[in-house]
Amino acid sequence: MSLIVQKYGGTSVANPERIQNVAKRVAAYRAKGDQVVVVVSAMSGVTDNLIKMAKQIMPLPNEREMDMLLATGEQTTIALTAIALHALNVPAVSLTGAQAGIETDGVHSKAKIKKITPKQIRSLLDQGKVVIVAGFQGQTMEGQITTLGRGGSDLTAIALAASLKAGLCQIYTDVDGVYTADPRIVPNARKLQEISYDEMLELAGLGAKVMQSRSVEFAKKFGVVFEVRSSLNDNPGTIVKEEIPSMEDVVIRGVSLDKNQAKVTVVQVPDRPGVAALIFKSIAEANINVDMIVQNISHSNAVPLTDISFTVDKPDLLKASKVIEGLKEKVGFRQVIADEKIGKLSIVGVGMRSHPGVAAKMFETLAASGINIDMISTSEIKVSVTVDLAKGEEAMRVVHHAFLGA
Ligand code: ASP
Ligand code: MG
Repeated sequence: MSLIVQKYGGTSVANPERIQNVAKRVAAYRAKGDQVVVVVSAMSGVTDNLIKMAKQIMPLPNEREMDMLLATGEQTTIALTAIALHALNVPAVSLTGAQAGIETDGVHSKAKIKKITPKQIRSLLDQGKVVIVAGFQGQTMEGQITTLGRGGSDLTAIALAASLKAGLCQIYTDVDGVYTADPRIVPNARKLQEISYDEMLELAGLGAKVMQSRSVEFAKKFGVVFEVRSSLNDNPGTIVKEEIPSMEDVVIRGVSLDKNQAKVTVVQVPDRPGVAALIFKSIAEANINVDMIVQNISHSNAVPLTDISFTVDKPDLLKASKVIEGLKEKVGFRQVIADEKIGKLSIVGVGMRSHPGVAAKMFETLAASGINIDMISTSEIKVSVTVDLAKGEEAMRVVHHAFLGA
């Protein structure tokens, strides 16, 4: 007998029939004698729709109230999933994040898990019940409902697997596993059998949309091996685990395109010490994550000036622009430009460490297709560029072809 944590994403619970399918799968595992903890997301589209309604009322709604609102999405799914299991005569109980013992800090909309006390989960499992936990949510010590950032149900699942020392952690989604690229954009993308945490982290963080990156970081930290697989069939998925030496034989594991970033450019910033520090401290204090940063001094003016560009998640763009506008007098820049129409294309692979010329090949490939590169950034196992959003998918296809073949 083993303890399994299974997470089902929004598309896997998109309607009552899909929820009944999930229940069948859960019932089959339980029939084999396993204890099953199920983590579910909101039904697909529900979270987006709740956000849309709130923003229809005001552009920057209060974050505590947003958490209160968004937590209802997952709460609907846990109850429906429990009911679907009851219909199959399987004893099941649904728990909110708070009831499951998930304690977080108080940063609304992107709370961090501080500790998990799965007492209630344990006792329900001991009673032979399937436990269904609402993903994406937790509670502060003071009893405030929080959410863990978009895609946070993945984190709930990985954290529960670590805390319960589960024998198996399965992340069910609407794709068969992790691919060399999004198969909807690159038709000849291939499913990977395995991938290292670091590669997965880069791919998830870069918008491969398979999993929330914080959940992969958490898995790496606590050594939670997990499988990403489809809830629509029985095919084996992709195993995500610690790097092994043979993984370096492959130069590029995958190509990803992130359409969810936006660029902020602060134009003509005086070139003096402390300016960048002030800008990025203010952004950080607003709890906005910055990804790429580019600065380039122009020496053609009497006073040296610089443009500073950086990228943030698209939903944070308005907030970020406001924060920077607020610094105008103090810093003395000319203007702030917000650009939503960018795509960030990245190639990822631990093999890059031992194979030179990878960046050059990527740039040549893009040039040959007449695609202009805007920002560039690199790390040990990744090269990223931003391009015009309209060219993003084409860029992804040509780069995939160059590195991963037809
Ligand atoms: N429902 C939340 C979202 O859409 C959390 C999740 O699906 O993991 O971001
Ligand atoms: Mg998700």
